[in-house]
Order: sequence, then C-alpha cells, then structure tokens
Amino acid sequence: MEKQHPNSLGAKYYICGLLNSNILGTSVMIRTAYAALLLALPMPALAHTDTMTVAQPHMAERAPLDTLPTADKFTKVVLYDNNTWEYIDCGRPVIEDTDFDTENWNTDRIHAYRDVPLALLPDEVDILLVDSLHPYHPPYVGDVTSRYCFRRTREHNGTDVRLKVGDPIFAAFDGRVRVSEGSSKTGGYGNLIVIRHANGLETYYGHLSEHAVQVGELVKAGEVIGYGGNTGRSTGPHLHFETRYQGQSFDPERIIDFGTGQLRDTMITLKKHYFSIYSHHGQTDEESLAASQRIVHRIKSGDTLSGLAVKYHTTVSKICKLNNMSPKATLRIGQRVTVR
Ligand SMILES: [Zn+2]
Repeated sequence: MEKQHPNSLGAKYYICGLLNSNILGTSVMIRTAYAALLLALPMPALAHTDTMTVAQPHMAERAPLDTLPTADKFTKVVLYDNNTWEYIDCGRPVIEDTDFDTENWNTDRIHAYRDVPLALLPDEVDILLVDSLHPYHPPYVGDVTSRYCFRRTREHNGTDVRLKVGDPIFAAFDGRVRVSEGSSKTGGYGNLIVIRHANGLETYYGHLSEHAVQVGELVKAGEVIGYGGNTGRSTGPHLHFETRYQGQSFDPERIIDFGTGQLRDTMITLKKHYFSIYSHHGQTDEESLAASQRIVHRIKSGDTLSGLAVKYHTTVSKICKLNNMSPKATLRIGQRVTVR
C-alpha cells in the first residue's frame, strides 16, 4: 500500500533533543513516574530502538532494551538496561508555507484539481492539520442541519451549519483565498469562498451574504472571511462547509466537531474510501470501505423497486432502508437509488 508523507505538499522533518531522566540517580518521584509510565503504556511487540537516538556521552555504557509508543504518535520512550529512559522525538512533520498555492492553482474555476482523478491519489495520506505555527479556528460553531451524504438526487459534499444572516464566518486554517465569487458564477453554492491551505486541504464556505476577502489574499486561521447568508441553492440561512484534498471532498465532520467547534485531532489520515459520498464520520473504516463500494442505480423509464430488487439480488425493504424511502415512493427518471 502506497503511503505519502504527512502534508504531501511539503512537510519537513526534524529531530529535536532528548529529555533525559536517570532513574537511579534522581528522586523517588521520577522513579514512581517511571513505574506509572510502564503501567500506563500499552505494551506492543518489542521494537528495536529508534535509529535516531542521539548518544548521550555521560551514559555511553547503557544499552537500549525496548522502545514504547506514547499517546503522541511522534514521541517514543526508549528504555535502557541501566534503568534509565528517555523520550525521543522521531521526526515530527511541520507545515510548510511554500508552494501550496502554485500547483493546480486556478482562481477562475471553483474546483481546481480537475486533472487529479481519485485513482491517482494514494491509498492513504496523513494530513497534518495544525502545528505550533499554524493554528486552527472553527469556521462557525453551531447545529449541523445536513451532513455529508447522498441526498435524494445529488451529492451533498459538505456539512451544513445553521446560522443567522450576518454572522461572521472564519478561516479554519491559514491559507490563500483561491475563489471569492458571487452567486451568478457558483450555481448552488451562492456566494462562495474557497481557501487553499498550507496543510494540503482546501475549505469551501458557501451561501454567504457577504465576502470579506479578495482572491489571492493570504488569510490567517480565525480571520473573518465573510458573513453567513442564504444565497444560492439554500432553503434557510446556513453555512455550507466543505473540506477537500486534491479536489476530492471528504466529510468535514471527520476533522471538526461543529457543535463545540473543536478540531478532533491535530492530524487526519485520509483513506481513499473517505472520498466516497457514502463514507462519513462515525463509521468504522470497514463500514466506510463497504459504503464506498455501494452500487447506485440511475432510474430509467419502467424501473420499479421490485424490479431493481430482482436485478441486484436484494429486497425492496433493503433498498428502501438504504435510501430512507417508503416502498410506495414514486421513482423519478434520473433519480439515483442505492441498490446495494
Ligand atoms: Zn450544504
């Protein structure tokens, strides 16, 4: 399985210093901490000591016994045969600000990555969302009124959050405004802002009443980029928020809890199946993969639910459950129905 480095748009790696604790030579408190650490850490299969360990001259005689993971995937603990241990930073990626706004940069098209098909994306990619220099700010905190899903006839590629017209909308991460366009050119999005971020993502903010930033402008996380509205294909004031990687959308709720506004983690590993409209936050990866492999039938003249059930070796009730529809629902030509 192919795997790209975190932040494929330009992460760099560094090794930082070590935090030492000599168990025998220091206080009981540290020894207690050592014991607690051993109890608290999950014991994985024994791994060799990380090759990035930097030799400590005053402890040159010690030999590594084991390497243990910690809650932070970029920090490990190495245990030595003289009862000492140390934390090792094994290469923490950072977000770089260079070149994120050059490749596939297009200010005239809403979707800039038309030449990057899903097939060319890696099976999974780590995206570092924030680091010490690149913060996050919730785009808007509120009730989710519509999730990332396939609606009756079309894909809903983002998360809708209820708001009041005129409420400020914030840039989620640092970046550069790629699109700032009025309703006449964006179709259903209404007034739309798209921001390209140094962390490798793009975020979309739709149905705005007003724009507060221009195309090409650099914005910081938390900067007001526009005001909530009801423009475009919208049945009430809300923010339509999308997250995309290389043009492919994934459920924004995978990274943001809109009820609290909190980022769920500092990093997300995007699996290829996350880019399916049937894959969403809350599923296990197995469920997501299965959902991404669903078969969708486009209704043609003469189609009936019972006919589809026979054709796809399933039942009417299963089809109805998958599509949240009644067995007596009227099928319309062109409608897409998930059959498996
Ligand atoms: Zn929406």
